[in-house]
Amino acid sequence: MAENTSHLGFETRAIHAGQQPDPRTGSVIVPIYQTSTYAQDGVGGTREGDYEYSRTANPTRTVCEQALASLENGKHGVAFASGMAASDAVLRTALRPGDHLVLGNDAYGGTFRLIDKVLTEWGVSYTVADLANADDVRAAIRPETKLVWCESPTNPLLGVAPIAALADLAHTAGARLVVDNTFATPYLQQPLSLGADYVVHSTTKYLGGHSDVVGGAVITDSDEAQEQLFFLRNSAGAVPGPFDSWLTVRGMKTLAVRMERHCDNAEQIAQALTEHPGVGRVYYPGLPDHAGHDVAAKQMRRFGGMVSFTVNGGEQRALEVAARTQLFVLAESLGGIESLIEHPGRMTHASVSGSALHVPEDLLRLSVGIESAADLIADLHDALG
Ligand SMILES: *Cc1c(COP(=O)(O)O)cnc(C)c1O
Repeated sequence: MAENTSHLGFETRAIHAGQQPDPRTGSVIVPIYQTSTYAQDGVGGTREGDYEYSRTANPTRTVCEQALASLENGKHGVAFASGMAASDAVLRTALRPGDHLVLGNDAYGGTFRLIDKVLTEWGVSYTVADLANADDVRAAIRPETKLVWCESPTNPLLGVAPIAALADLAHTAGARLVVDNTFATPYLQQPLSLGADYVVHSTTKYLGGHSDVVGGAVITDSDEAQEQLFFLRNSAGAVPGPFDSWLTVRGMKTLAVRMERHCDNAEQIAQALTEHPGVGRVYYPGLPDHAGHDVAAKQMRRFGGMVSFTVNGGEQRALEVAARTQLFVLAESLGGIESLIEHPGRMTHASVSGSALHVPEDLLRLSVGIESAADLIADLHDALG
């Protein structure tokens, strides 16, 4: 089932898009084509499938890309060796030296570092804005603005940006909108349908879903953007290997059921935390008093599996709590079936310290897994004391 799958439901596409039994053996699951090169019929003449060399293309990766494109309701998927390689490819194909981009005021630390430390060296400038505030975005846009870079929900403060309105603002200014959809996943939110030009993923997170692979992807409807991304990836070489592509394909098959459970558990945990005396503020878009709740309810199917909260008693207390959980593993990353806890200020977001991006020092971030919600809540209660 390679071509048009758009009439099928998400759950069906997650299992079948881009995939059919292997024509040679009948293998139901796509083989791991662990090869660097492909026999040619004659000089310059490839056999069926057009494969020549695995930096350029590999059949296992092709399946991964078709599945990614189908889940985002997009035309093209381009897989990369990591989420940062995917982000880098968008930045270096959509921008030229002298261009400017607008970046949200809460962003993945690695994205901020790439823009702030690498892209600026390359002659690109940026302005940080509150993407939930149209006036702030308009004020940040300049004649040379070519890109607006959005995460929604954001990492780690779970802020919500109105994607359709942002797309309009960007397009009016002659810029394109990128949405890093890692936190929401295509199951909960499909930015291309809301007007975004590029969707970026760290497939390391929910799409892979089992904390066993690092990868990234860009999905776009634009043939031109796809060609540029493909050219850069083939030139620079940040490709995922066949086994990593295969793990990602396998992970995506269960995305819908995993996300439902992540959301169920996160909703219960967010509620339990709001009732705990040791907790200050709880950041979860599913809570009715969250500033982005209404926008999230409109553009997302549910509210996701990430919950952040501040601990009463300051940074030291927060660090103690993070070190005391038993089921929540103290670790960076997110989106796997197991629950993780981390301190963004000292861990994932250490690179934003002192910048325009602000992360409270008493903040903890949870990646809520698919274990029993009661066990997870008991673990947090024990750790909070
Ligand atoms: C992890 C992450 C990235 C970077 O992805 P890698 O696969 O670690 O390179 C980018 N954006 C968000 C929102 C992330 O959580």
